Amino acid sequence: MAMSCSSSSVRLRLNLAPSRRRTAAPANLQVLRCVGMAASPLRLCATRATGGDARQPFDHVPRGVEEIGEMEEEEEGRRRRRGLKIAVVGFGNYGQFLTRTLVRQGHTVLAHSRSDYSAVAAELGATFFTDPHDLCECHPDVVLLVTSILSAEAVLRSLPVHRLRRDTLFADVLSVKEFPRNLLLGTLPEEFDIICTHPMFGPESARDGWGGFPFVFDKVRVGDCPARHTRAEAFLDIFAREGCRMVEMSCAEHDAHAAETQFLTHTVGRTLAMLELQPTPINTMGYETLLRLVDNTCSDSFDLYNGLFMYNNNSTELLNRLEWAMDSVKKRLFDGLHDVLRRQLFEGSPPLDSVSAAAAAAGSPPDDAPIDGDLDSDNDEEELE
Ligand code: NAP
Repeated sequence: MAMSCSSSSVRLRLNLAPSRRRTAAPANLQVLRCVGMAASPLRLCATRATGGDARQPFDHVPRGVEEIGEMEEEEEGRRRRRGLKIAVVGFGNYGQFLTRTLVRQGHTVLAHSRSDYSAVAAELGATFFTDPHDLCECHPDVVLLVTSILSAEAVLRSLPVHRLRRDTLFADVLSVKEFPRNLLLGTLPEEFDIICTHPMFGPESARDGWGGFPFVFDKVRVGDCPARHTRAEAFLDIFAREGCRMVEMSCAEHDAHAAETQFLTHTVGRTLAMLELQPTPINTMGYETLLRLVDNTCSDSFDLYNGLFMYNNNSTELLNRLEWAMDSVKKRLFDGLHDVLRRQLFEGSPPLDSVSAAAAAAGSPPDDAPIDGDLDSDNDEEELE
């Protein structure tokens, strides 16, 4: 009899005499494959007891045991057929949005959040856990972090990760990427796989489906064994099969691009929102685009926007560039206005009223335009002469 261990099961390989093969297997032994001939191996798998504290004493697959690799692939095949068991941690706006698709695709969703979303979860076909210990003891294949950027560290540290299987895949969908990458690498045990992702769409923009939207991902750490690769691919396939444009790039590269594509977009949307723009009877297409931008960006929480600023190294520089750009455009307009005033002053004799009106429209007197007092004193000089 050969015996070997993996994180999920104890495997026994027996060569039994025909008379003994009819013996009923104990309750915790599961027949994995039985090849009919007397001399063929009967493979048995000791399943873990469910419930209670399920810390994993048998963690590592011994190298060089061929059968284990085969059996893990079989197990992975079964897992793929029945879908992944995914723990969605952070069950707010975006967690619920993702869950609709995960459930439709046949995955099992276990949800956990600071607030109690039991009723919403049940409606969506997910199971809600108020206690993170209960969640982790269900041994999800994937833990998907969907909490706010600002709370990510506290939420991650509140998870009893020692109750998870030691080969669990951790993924996140935070809208910034270097920060969760460093956080996950620094916090999780080395045995855990890590994939950082950013689905670049939300409940507003992708209300009619995810097709064509970019899905950015970085396989930060995926263990070197076929089962882990298959699971990583099964996870990424959730987005690929919805028609997302799969974009593999490093977290640092993502953040450099996202400062422009995302932080800038949200900043402009939120700035325009301050103007309280309303639809008019003569909306242009451009104006409609602005109104939609306000809607799309302001429907996300301020926490999300704040996270884009606080946790992306490139955001401050971009905000400064935006301010500079606004000033430059304004300067060009006012320079033009000053030119007109100067021409009128030196080439014609503009009525005083038009100069003051132009200065008033500019918000302040033009730098080198004469102000009322100066004009008066010029006149005085003329009078003296
Ligand atoms: P959010 O405001 O960024 O996050 C809300 C979630 O964070 C809720 O689950 C909330 O839990 C949790 N949370 C907030 N503060 C918390 C705290 N102090 N302690 C524990 N949990 C806390 O809005 P969101 O739109 O749902 O986004 C979630 C994540 O998805 C973010 O990281 C965001 O960057 C990412 N994302 C969002 C979009 C989008 O379009 N919305 C797109 C791509 C990626 P409770 O609800 O239980 O309070």
